[in-house]
Amino acid sequence: MSFPPNQRLSRSGAKVSINPDTIPAEALADAFSLAGSRESDQCCIRCGKTADLAHRLAWLECKEKCCLCDANAHKNSWCSRMKIFFPALFTREWFLERAGLGRWYIWEEEGVKIYQLVRDDGLRRLREREAAPSTASLLAAAVAAAAAAKRAPVLRFKASLDRALWGKRVEDKDEEMD
Ligand SMILES: [Zn+2]
Ligand SMILES: [Zn+2]
Repeated sequence: MSFPPNQRLSRSGAKVSINPDTIPAEALADAFSLAGSRESDQCCIRCGKTADLAHRLAWLECKEKCCLCDANAHKNSWCSRMKIFFPALFTREWFLERAGLGRWYIWEEEGVKIYQLVRDDGLRRLREREAAPSTASLLAAAVAAAAAAKRAPVLRFKASLDRALWGKRVEDKDEEMD
């Protein structure tokens, strides 16, 4: 079985060519219903893979292949197939709902600016959340504190011994100096 030369093979061996002739509008909408940069979304808008929130917030800078053109093209930029092939799906409303772009398209200057704000704000919130106390971090701290408390009498004894020895040495020195 052979494919026309302009059609590529994906790793699974299936034909990959995403255009209005090869995918029904509903199937495209279904596939992209998983994509977005909200907490509740699952997939990256660029690579289409299941990804964590940090990856999905920075979807324009995603380093994976674009799932619409199956290429590592348009680095740090939007896919022209969104605009040229599928304007019925990638509407202002879609970008508002999925990527928080206000009423802008990602191919508008304002859209890119809002994208950056949404991304940076989201990543900052994520860092704050990770730094905040969690049950796991509180448990680890409590265990460490209990272990330190057990060592404390030994350390105190050692400290008083050091003090005693040091004091003795100082006294010895004083005597020698006299
Ligand atoms: Zn991605
Ligand atoms: Zn693309």
